[in-house]
Amino acid sequence: MTKITLRRNAPEASSTAACTLCGKHEPGGTKDHLLVGTPGVLAHDSAVCQECGKTLGHVVERFGSDLTVHVEEAQVRAGKRDTPLANEPSAVSGQPSAGRGATPSE
Ligand SMILES: [Zn+2]
Repeated sequence: MTKITLRRNAPEASSTAACTLCGKHEPGGTKDHLLVGTPGVLAHDSAVCQECGKTLGHVVERFGSDLTVHVEEAQVRAGKRDTPLANEPSAVSGQPSAGRGATPSE
């Protein structure tokens, strides 16, 4: 299991220019040290800005440190699967010809 450790206001993190999470550049450098990896194996060593560090801190304060996090993106646009009739050429061009065929001829 991957473990995330956040060291708030860590002096060793102040030399990194950009936040690893949001990419923001702070004039005084980042303030929090982010360590990610499995126990005994460090996979990611970086720094985050104070806002991102504060957000991570609030998540752990509120829900505890024993977390498994999944991030899902909500669908914001209809795809081809959601509107199958709009993608069928016969549905668009078939309407006018069906109307003409229904007109009685004399
Ligand atoms: Zn940030």
